[in-house]
Amino acid sequence: MLTKETHNTGNVWTHHFPRHHLLAACGISLAATLLLSVLPDSVVAYRVQELEPSPAPAVTPAIETPAAEITTAPVEIDPWLHLTVRKGDTLSSLLQKTGLDTNAIHELTNSSKDAQKLASLNLGDELDVLMKDGAVQELRLRRSKLDSLSVTRTGDKYESKQVTLIPEVRYSYAAGTIDSSLFLAGQKAGLNDRMTLKLADIFAYDVDFLQDIQQGDSFALLYEELYLDGQSIGQGNIVSAEFTNQGKTYRAVQYTNKNGTTSYYTPDGNIMRKQFLRTPVDFAKVTSYFSLNRKHPILHKIRAHKGIDYGAPTGTPIRAAGDGTVVFAGVRNGFGNVVMIQHGGVYTTLYGHMSKIGVKKGARVNQGQVIGAVGMTGLASGPHLHYEFHVNGTAVNPLANMNVAMAEPLSKTEKANFDKTTAALFSQMKEFAAGTIPQKSQQVALGDTDKNREPQIR
Ligand SMILES: [Zn+2]
Repeated sequence: MLTKETHNTGNVWTHHFPRHHLLAACGISLAATLLLSVLPDSVVAYRVQELEPSPAPAVTPAIETPAAEITTAPVEIDPWLHLTVRKGDTLSSLLQKTGLDTNAIHELTNSSKDAQKLASLNLGDELDVLMKDGAVQELRLRRSKLDSLSVTRTGDKYESKQVTLIPEVRYSYAAGTIDSSLFLAGQKAGLNDRMTLKLADIFAYDVDFLQDIQQGDSFALLYEELYLDGQSIGQGNIVSAEFTNQGKTYRAVQYTNKNGTTSYYTPDGNIMRKQFLRTPVDFAKVTSYFSLNRKHPILHKIRAHKGIDYGAPTGTPIRAAGDGTVVFAGVRNGFGNVVMIQHGGVYTTLYGHMSKIGVKKGARVNQGQVIGAVGMTGLASGPHLHYEFHVNGTAVNPLANMNVAMAEPLSKTEKANFDKTTAALFSQMKEFAAGTIPQKSQQVALGDTDKNREPQIR
């Protein structure tokens, strides 16, 4: 990656990577639904507060006039105007506060492609403006602690520059036992809610965080803590984690394969987000794709087709796309005989028009297990399976999402590297748990595994 840097200082291991990767690969949006359903009200309120910056004066002229005091030392005057983007603010409305007229503002924002980005401000963005002779000398837009854009005037031209700072990454450890809720246990362990969501997301395929969580369930994780100039600026990705649910322990480790895809794996090298069966019926062909406006073959009306149709002779076995629990088995409107399977807390699959249903509600099924047979019950013009794939209750295109859930198996050479990395991470977690390394470690030694980890940095 362009801005990647790797530093090895003695046996102190740190790595740097660009910010836009921090949020990658962790289904935050998908976990957001989970957040709302799991969080107690107080926590939701806390998060909302976090998202809406508390009101503060929009303009903070930093020039302080000392009240009639005579000091011998020169008074330091900050010549910059510091503005924070609040609800309803536009760049124009903010810059007008500096005394600039619309023409001058237009000239500045149209001076370059980067400068045009100034037009789209986000709540909480910070704008620092340096004025000289009634014109903007320099303008800095800080979108986050790491990203900023600066526009500087030289002569009668403006020059713009994007700056992305790269944080130093250190490992921290957290562990906890669930008493009333996962989020409270997470907070107790020093995790922000975003991190707790990430943790839940890693194990979402194996654990149903809405239904299966019990008092006494526990977790432990090694995660990245981000520093800028020695100051902690937030938490990054989870590096390795374990979750014990009803006495069964699941482990996961983050690994980037040779193609640069970062996923969570079990310690023996299987992908956590397991692959669903590509097609739940053998030897079938797609007769209709997922589409939000399709003319229905029988109703002759434009109707969303929220699944895929696989044409196959009546009686062809239909298989469960993944391990899970049957949450519905019966007749449902136009879909005739229907089976729905819940896979962990996030995914559900639906099978329609079956001629026969082979499972009962509540039954546990394994991937590939026959759950019924192709038919044309309900509204169907011929025998086919209507197959839907739901993420958090919303039907999505199964084919597109199969790809997301899928990952190539690790090659033999990769597996050796993976094993070494995994062993180091889990032994490090053990040391943390045993107290050999202080819980909030400032720096983490990884010994000779440094090199092995290097290519994994995203
Ligand atoms: Zn269909």
